[in-house]
Amino acid sequence: MSTKTSPVRTVLISGASIAGPALAHWLHRYGFTPTVVERAPELRSGGYKVDLRGEAVEVCERMGIMDEVRAHSTDMQLGAYVDADNRVVGEMPAAFFGGRVDGDDEIMRGDLARILYERTRDDVEYLFGDSIASLTEDSDGVLVTFENAPPRRFDLVVGADGMHSHTRRLVFGDEERFRRHLGAYISIFTAPNDLELDRREVYHVVVDKMVCAYSSQGQQTARNMFVFASPEIPYDHRDTAAQKRILHNTFAQNESWEIPRLLSHAASADDFYFDSISLIEMDRWSKGRVVLLGDAAHCVSPAAGQGTGLALIGAYTLAGELAASRGDFRQALDAYERHMRPGVEHTQDFARKFVTQMTVDRQWKIRLRLLMLRTLPKMPWRNLIAKKITEDVQKAAHVVPLKGYGAGRVAA
Ligand SMILES: Cc1cc2nc3c(=O)[nH]c(=O)nc-3n(C[C@H](O)[C@H](O)[C@H](O)COP(=O)(O)OP(=O)(O)OC[C@H]3O[C@@H](n4cnc5c(N)ncnc54)[C@H](O)[C@@H]3O)c2cc1C
Repeated sequence: MSTKTSPVRTVLISGASIAGPALAHWLHRYGFTPTVVERAPELRSGGYKVDLRGEAVEVCERMGIMDEVRAHSTDMQLGAYVDADNRVVGEMPAAFFGGRVDGDDEIMRGDLARILYERTRDDVEYLFGDSIASLTEDSDGVLVTFENAPPRRFDLVVGADGMHSHTRRLVFGDEERFRRHLGAYISIFTAPNDLELDRREVYHVVVDKMVCAYSSQGQQTARNMFVFASPEIPYDHRDTAAQKRILHNTFAQNESWEIPRLLSHAASADDFYFDSISLIEMDRWSKGRVVLLGDAAHCVSPAAGQGTGLALIGAYTLAGELAASRGDFRQALDAYERHMRPGVEHTQDFARKFVTQMTVDRQWKIRLRLLMLRTLPKMPWRNLIAKKITEDVQKAAHVVPLKGYGAGRVAA
């Protein structure tokens, strides 16, 4: 077999959430021709608020979108734990919870996806409501058939299609081989702002479960979030009705606090999100001319809180390496993975540890946690704890340094 490779020019990206449009931006800027295919009929809204810290902020600055991100900041002010009677047990500035420092920001996932899409839509071809049907690689490229569009050839295919990546399944094998369930599920959806929250988040904890509601800057609505500990539950991850049933059945017996009212809005939510808190662990993120990016390659789960940042940094790095290697994809894919992997593995270690704190498995431990929260503001070591949280979070936000690739148009 010839080892000579033709340079990469055309790139098909599967998935238009965070990683996909961010990669499309950089590829276009370097002179490649990206096409993005997204299974959903339009850009998907919804999801939680995502932190942008450290190098992820720097990537947004280099993309020229940081001002727009700041204009859509959640501007969260306060986080509070409440008891069953809605009495505040402990309240803290949101920045304390988030471990944020000056320059960091927080934005709704859907707002960030829209900013990235709008930045790229005039320069990049988007195929909504479609999906890759098959991939056949030969020495010159990849022949792609789609569920709807006619077949086309591309020089490189990037799977940026999330934790349940379809591209990964087609090329690397079944999801079960790579996904590690961390013992909990998360659901989040838009709902009426029943608790009249204004840039405030409210948490309530019961055994093995946590419920939260928040409303961010400029929102008339709230987001209701449910987390619960559970072994793996078999269901079709594309079957929203089944997911709503699981959530309902899990929380139906919980009368505590506002749980029934917050839960009641799940049935009619059209941006309902539900997923296992899982990691994707792979020995290798590319095979031939197909490479994975973001959650598809290395989901770090909401327990780590860095998934969006790593998706942005990964997109910047993958495009930069492709540009720097002048289209020699083998060299570029090796360099991309070598650069990203240590930080990803560090973040996944953090997620494995932190997931155990998302829910509490005994009533006495909940009482202890609430007692600590109640007394913390009066404690002299309060500032030391805030400092430690900030240090840990900031360390996690700087696990992948940014290389300077320049922003010239280098593809042939
Ligand atoms: C609507 C939505 C809500 C989310 N909410 C949360 C949340 O509340 N908490 C949390 O921890 N994480 C959430 N996430 C995941 C979070 O966005 C990612 O962890 C992170 O931002 C990395 O993004 P990504 O682009 O790699 O993957 P993702 O954000 O998962 O995006 C993957 C994209 O690929 C698309 N896709 C899937 N299959 C195909 C296919 N066959 N063909 C083409 N496209 C396909 C999906 O529709 C999606 O747009 C959400 C993702 C989405 C899409």
